[in-house]
Amino acid sequence: MAGDNNSESRELDPALTLPAAHDTRAELLAAMPEIDDSTPLAAELARDVRRRIELEGRTLPRPEQTRVITVANQKGGVGKTTTTVNLAAALARSGLHVLVIDNDPQGNASTALGVDHRAGTPSIYEVLIEDAPIAEIVQQCPDIDSLWCVPATIDLSGAEIELVSVVSRETRLRRALDAYMAQLEREGKPPLDYIFVDCPPSLGLLTVNAFVVGREVLIPIQCEYYALEGLTQLLKTIGLIQSHLNPELHVSTILLTMYDARTNLAQQVASEVREHFAAQTLRTTVPRSVRISEAPSYGQTVVTYDPSSSGALAYLEAARELSERGPVTAGADRAVQEEQVS
Ligand code: ADP
Ligand code: MG
Repeated sequence: MAGDNNSESRELDPALTLPAAHDTRAELLAAMPEIDDSTPLAAELARDVRRRIELEGRTLPRPEQTRVITVANQKGGVGKTTTTVNLAAALARSGLHVLVIDNDPQGNASTALGVDHRAGTPSIYEVLIEDAPIAEIVQQCPDIDSLWCVPATIDLSGAEIELVSVVSRETRLRRALDAYMAQLEREGKPPLDYIFVDCPPSLGLLTVNAFVVGREVLIPIQCEYYALEGLTQLLKTIGLIQSHLNPELHVSTILLTMYDARTNLAQQVASEVREHFAAQTLRTTVPRSVRISEAPSYGQTVVTYDPSSSGALAYLEAARELSERGPVTAGADRAVQEEQVS
C-alpha cells in the first residue's frame, strides 16, 4: 500500500531543504509570537510562516507502487494544468521521482515545466500516433532533477482525429507507458513514484487514453457558479471507462482551486463538493494567487518561482496531503457515482 514511509534512501537537494528534525520544527513553531486578527495582514503573514515551517524540508512518503494520476475536467480554465505541474513539482522537490505527461495540444504543462515543445520537438504525438518510445521523448525539467516531462506540441491538435483510425486507439498511451516503466526496471533505474497526465478540456480520445493509463483521477474544481455543471458527464464517462476499459479507474482526489474564502459563492460550492465527495476532497484549497498565474511566463511552477507565496504553500500542502493519505480506494466513490451529482 502507498503511504509507507520508506523514502529515507532518497537524497534531498540541500539547496531546497531546511533542517527537518521534528524538534527543530517544534522549536521554531513555539518561538513564533502570537498575533491576533486585529492586524489582519500581520496575522496572514504569521500563518504563512507557520505553514512554511510545517512544510519545509519534509520528506514525503514514497508510494510502494507508481501512482498514476490523471488530471481531468472537460471544463477549460479550472486549474488542471496548474494543479498537474505544481503537485508534480512539490512531490519531486521532496526527492520523489515524478513524470508529467502533457496530453493537451496547448502544451501549457510543458511551458510551465520549462521544457522545449516547439513544433517539431519529439512529443506525446509521436508516442500516440507513431509508436515512439517514451524514453526517446522524455525531457528532464531544468529546475528539479527528479522531475521529467513528456512534452506536447501543436502537432497533438490533429491527434484526436488521427487516433480514430489507429489500431487499439484507446490504449496507446498505456502500452507506451508500460513499456517505459519496464525499460526503467531493466536498466536498473529508480522507478517512478508519481505520474501525472494533464488532459485537454474535452472527453475525446486523448482524455480516454489518459483514463486507461492509471487508476486515479484527480478533478480540479474551480469554486464558481458553474462548477458542478458537467461533473455528471465527467463521472458518467469515468463509469463507462471503468466498465469497458479500465475496471480500476476511480476518482481518488478532488482539489478546490481558485478559492476565494471571502465570497459566499466559493464557500457554497466548496461545501457542496465536500458533501458529495467527502472522502476524495482534499482539506487544502488553492487560493486565487497572482504568483500562480505569473509563474508559467517564466517557464516555472509557483513551487520553484516563489516557494514562500501562499499559492506555492497551498500546492505544497496539497501534495503532502495527497501523498500522506495514499490513494483513496476505488470503493469510496462508487456510492457517489451512483448517486449522480447534478
Ligand atoms: P486548465 O488546465 O484547466 O485549462 P489552467 O491551469 O491552465 O486551467 O488555469 C487557467 C488559468 O488560470 C491560467 O491562466 C492559470 O495561470 C490561472 N490559474 C490557475 N490557478 C490559479 C490560481 N489558483 N490563482 C490564479 N490564477 C490561476
Ligand atoms: Mg490545461
